[in-house]
Amino acid sequence: MKQIALAAGLIGLLCAGAATADDPSWAQPHEPYRIAGNVYYVGTAGIGVYLVETPKGDILLDAGPEGATDIVEGNIAALGVRLTDIKYLIETHAHYDHIGGMARLKHDTGAIFIASRGDRLALEHGRHVGDNINGVGTFPPVRVDRIIGEGGTVSLGGVVLTAHMTPGHTPGCTMWTTTVDDGGHRRKILFWGSATTAGNVLVHNKTYPGIVADYRLTFRRLKTLKADILVANHPDFADMEAKYQRQKAGETGAFVDPAALPKLVAQSQADFEAELKKEGGR
Ligand code: ZN
Repeated sequence: MKQIALAAGLIGLLCAGAATADDPSWAQPHEPYRIAGNVYYVGTAGIGVYLVETPKGDILLDAGPEGATDIVEGNIAALGVRLTDIKYLIETHAHYDHIGGMARLKHDTGAIFIASRGDRLALEHGRHVGDNINGVGTFPPVRVDRIIGEGGTVSLGGVVLTAHMTPGHTPGCTMWTTTVDDGGHRRKILFWGSATTAGNVLVHNKTYPGIVADYRLTFRRLKTLKADILVANHPDFADMEAKYQRQKAGETGAFVDPAALPKLVAQSQADFEAELKKEGGR
């Protein structure tokens, strides 16, 4: 538990909205792989990007940082998927380490980009919203084609992805769920989208005054969700590399871990409350 807390805390710092020193793993290649059913990992070593295949085309979740698009596009190609097979692009949140490559991916795929109302301003202006001790993180702006809200769905080829608004880390942070058929087992997957404080100012945040209430709404909401499989925008949040290595070694169901979500929610909430207390808030 302590080790997990440390890892999450460290990643929290690295997943800041602003231009802190980048983690080299963000731009380090990682081979693509199938997680379960029709869901594939196509990200880098340090940043999760997910491809959901359907008979009518594919959905891509997040883009990775600007400098990693060649890796992501290469991983998609390695799975035998053409960029033009991708029909929808969706996001977890408007921070440069997850969205920096979205403008180019939108250009290269011609897909429809769906995002939350809360992240639209940041996405279309290419800059992180909200006071952050690290300043402002920037990325190539990308136009949002369609807005999605709490409980909204993206459907394609019989696959349904449901959006869960989890604001706080950014005003429009979004997590997603879907159910897949994995070798005869129905598995619910949750795509985590960060709930760390990551340098966000919690007390008297002038450009995001509702930030504390938003984080608390998010933790309440996350406690109502269940997932057989947790995957994350930073793979370390869900211990994904270890699970992948176990899968590679022949273990079936290596990613099935229903305890992972409640554990991460509890840890994120504890970290948030500690940070708030440190800032003198409540
Ligand atoms: Zn972030």
